[in-house]
Amino acid sequence: MSKDALEPSLFNELFAAEGASIGLQVKELLHKEQSPYQNIEIYDTTHFGHLMVLDGCIMLTQRENFIYHEMMSHPALFSHPAPQKVVIIGGGDCGTLQEVLKHPEVETALQVELDQRVTELSEQYFPELCQSNNDSRAGFYFGDGIQWIKDAKEHSVDIIIIDSTDPVGPAEGLFSTDFYRDCHRALKTNGILVQQSESPLFHSDSIIKKMQNDLCGSGFNDTLVRTFPQPVYPSGWWSCTVGFKAGNKSTQAQNPLRPVNIETRYYTEELHGASTKLPAFMLTKK
Ligand code: SAM
Repeated sequence: MSKDALEPSLFNELFAAEGASIGLQVKELLHKEQSPYQNIEIYDTTHFGHLMVLDGCIMLTQRENFIYHEMMSHPALFSHPAPQKVVIIGGGDCGTLQEVLKHPEVETALQVELDQRVTELSEQYFPELCQSNNDSRAGFYFGDGIQWIKDAKEHSVDIIIIDSTDPVGPAEGLFSTDFYRDCHRALKTNGILVQQSESPLFHSDSIIKKMQNDLCGSGFNDTLVRTFPQPVYPSGWWSCTVGFKAGNKSTQAQNPLRPVNIETRYYTEELHGASTKLPAFMLTKK
């Protein structure tokens, strides 16, 4: 038997800038297409269930996505006194939307996703993430989130969650001060912005600290960073950065404002504050 025949078939994402990669053993390619915006692949893996890959980058698997989706949503919702109007930019797999809709305070949750095919394929291959798509509070708009926020009514949104791809291509403008200024304008007085901000190990200065500075420079009163494990993203460790329009992190971030009476698999009342505690190398001011 040749050496190749013994090796499992891997989907491997290489992070060339860091000289590292993450590989998942795959059983088969279930779907592949070039949408108007990106190359979409769906695999069945041996241990992580279905895997979605956009332009060669791992987005999510059925096994671990709950960590990311819960941490992108629940800490922000439990930090807001009345999270009624929520807008998700990106998030086409509908996982964040589903978590947001677990909160009875939410009146409307609009998912603004560029690529309709990501949502259609998620309904087919990740049906467990799309269980709330028929909730009467859920809304779907397929188009550019940058333009949507620019056109949004002033003081109309309580929480903006930016669940986007990496800051390249159509997502690049989601990491800009112009976009943050438009988000600040669209948010109500107690408004909160949450954005996925990549790996604490690889992007602490280039993305996370820059995002905090840019949010403050765009009018946000205070910011904080939460970190959490992310087994299938570069370095296995991920972050989201939070901007508070009026409030500040010491009052809003340490404890949930309401009892945590929703079903979760990662987020807990204790992790609400604990996930804001940063390692020494991230505490140095820039
Ligand atoms: N959890 C993932 C991560 O951090 O890698 C993100 C998953 S979600 C599927 C990312 C989505 O952002 C993609 O479906 C992509 O189409 C969408 N997206 C990228 N740029 C966008 C934009 N300007 N407006 C709206 N959606 C955008």
